[in-house]
Amino acid sequence: MFKKELDGLKEKSLLRKLRTVESVRGTRAVVDGREYTLFCTNDYLGLSSHPAVCAAAKDAIDDAGFGSGSAPLIAGRSAYHEKLEQEIASFKRAETALLFGSGYLANTGLIPALASQGDVILSDSLNHASIVDGCRLSRAEVRVYRHTDVSSLEDKLKEPSGFNRRWIVTEGVFSMDGDIAPMPEITALAEKYGATVIIDDAHATGAIGSGGRGTLEHFGLPADNVVQMGTLGKAVGSYGAFVAGPRDVAGWLVNSARSFMFSTALPIPVCAAASAALGVIKGNPERRARMARNAEKLRGSLAAMGLTVLGDGTPIIPVLAGEAMTAVGMSATLMEKGFLAPAIRPPTVPEGESRIRFTVSALHTAEDIDALTDALRGMVTA
Ligand code: PMP
Repeated sequence: MFKKELDGLKEKSLLRKLRTVESVRGTRAVVDGREYTLFCTNDYLGLSSHPAVCAAAKDAIDDAGFGSGSAPLIAGRSAYHEKLEQEIASFKRAETALLFGSGYLANTGLIPALASQGDVILSDSLNHASIVDGCRLSRAEVRVYRHTDVSSLEDKLKEPSGFNRRWIVTEGVFSMDGDIAPMPEITALAEKYGATVIIDDAHATGAIGSGGRGTLEHFGLPADNVVQMGTLGKAVGSYGAFVAGPRDVAGWLVNSARSFMFSTALPIPVCAAASAALGVIKGNPERRARMARNAEKLRGSLAAMGLTVLGDGTPIIPVLAGEAMTAVGMSATLMEKGFLAPAIRPPTVPEGESRIRFTVSALHTAEDIDALTDALRGMVTA
């Protein structure tokens, strides 16, 4: 069963295979006994291996055990969960925050809880799969606007409506493109047309904004009336996700977001690790500055080599390869040279836009970045 389908994917260079990473420490990973430099994780600040983060998780196990045992509405929400929610709300300058099991669960719970039949959702064409799936589950009418194109968004908002509510949903930092949504224009349009903005700040939280608070802070925008989703498994170095926003929105999610109501609460040490990581983010802005310098250095070097580099101002530095086969070839060559940066292919990105998505961390050294640049020199791209 499914052999034909799998063979079909292989023929088109679209077959995905799992790899086992034997150990990861900061920017180094061992695979099949060989050490590689990682340029592909979302651990932008290197917090997943930070001593304070690991110690917090260990202490929490000693204090309260591992699993939460049940859904948050039963008995799964511990004092660790409550503390983390309060810290996130304050970090995101929101009235309140609510934890979800993962970013995928947050988007597929949040969007259908807020938007329903009779509503319209305006969605960026490159939004993450979890947003797309959340929109599908909502049964609202979904209208897709061109990526980060505010005139396309306004055209859709102008279309005759009769809808109950209007929603605009966008990533803050786009996961596969490394660019930032034009939030000043998007929030202004939302106000003009009576829409509510939902922002997925999975890749922005901890990574952009002067205090690492994400996309709204990056643009100096207030958080009132915006529903902010974010994840804890990327720059925060832990696992899980949150929605931060107005109190009544959170109250409604508690009562209607199915992925919140019917799913086990996060393990306790995961919450403790995230709390510790938020403390590091708030207390150590130089870590983010190091990450930003690394990103700028790599982005500049790759562009100077004539590669087609996407995005700007984020730790995500995609290099366009074109066909899936080209991206797979680039990734394999990099692996031979000791770097791990997998090919990103359809359906993650559109047909013909396969790429290598490089990411940098605060832990990369200038030598790491120079070594990657040398390895890429001379590689053919679209
Ligand atoms: N939203 C975006 C923009 C993402 O990139 C991701 C993860 N890649 C998610 C949501 C899902 O988050 P999680 O991995 O916590 O399920």
